[in-house]
Amino acid sequence: MTHIAVLGSTNMDLVAYVEQAPRRGETVTGREFRTVPGGKGANQAIAAARAGATVSMIGAVGDDAFGTKLRSALQDSGVDTGRLRTVAGPSGTAHIVVDDGGGNAIVVVPGANGTVDRLAPADDAVIASADVLLLQLEIPLTAVVAGARAARAHGIRTVLTPAPARPLPPELLAAVDLLVPNEHEAADLTGLTDPREAAGALLAQVPEVVVTLGSAGCLHVARNTEPQTLTAPRVTAVDSTGAGDTFVGALAVALGEHRPMREALTWAAAAAALSVQRAGASASMPYRSEIEALCT
Ligand code: ATP
Repeated sequence: MTHIAVLGSTNMDLVAYVEQAPRRGETVTGREFRTVPGGKGANQAIAAARAGATVSMIGAVGDDAFGTKLRSALQDSGVDTGRLRTVAGPSGTAHIVVDDGGGNAIVVVPGANGTVDRLAPADDAVIASADVLLLQLEIPLTAVVAGARAARAHGIRTVLTPAPARPLPPELLAAVDLLVPNEHEAADLTGLTDPREAAGALLAQVPEVVVTLGSAGCLHVARNTEPQTLTAPRVTAVDSTGAGDTFVGALAVALGEHRPMREALTWAAAAAALSVQRAGASASMPYRSEIEALCT
């Protein structure tokens, strides 16, 4: 079985649904409140586990009730949490206000994720035994760089989702094999709004880039090959939250299985298309049999 290691964040999303978001100094009454396990790292781990891989999550939760729930949510999807440390203090939280117009405002408090600033020897051993390492930017950059370097040292393929977008240090990019920004992140990283131009510019820093384009699919560019665009399956989307993480998790599984890039992208797009047809982030992520059914 393919082994995916994920080094990243685990958050509890605290979501309040309101008619209109409060202005500064204002109090409004919300209609509904939900707690939803999230964090880009945990979401990608769940997506990869459901897509059929053995998955190890490296990160931290707090010693609060959210930490217990977050660990269980990962385990329920089959993710190994042996390297998910429990640290004193609160778990990471995302405070989300969703208004009736579909807009949102989000405050992320890193909590335990902020303590993930280096790799322990046991984390290095997990990375060494993986086929693919998945990284995002919701934990301190020092750990992201350490993870990418460890993977490079062990000859493990590293896939980085540059979210939330921020300038990336050259030592990180030097150890990344595949960068997967969405079109906004690609623009933020390069200052270029055209995804093809942005992807081309990013190729100067990493050998391979996939820019996700929402319902328009994705764009793949690699050094010395022609850019290729892959359209997404046409579906009726009800909630695209977590589509990017589903895409990356499934893509990692297919790449870990040594499938050619085009086939891996088709598989990832199928997984993401299934997820957007259902509500929620990790709750909407499809299982392997569902992805296979859509790909045959
Ligand atoms: P999110 O932040 O919502 O998790 P993202 O912005 O990181 O997503 P997107 O580019 O929106 O990432 O979507 C990732 C992939 O999901 C796309 O490349 C596509 O394959 C799939 N996808 C997203 N929206 C749709 C849709 N409406 N229909 C079909 N596929 C979709």
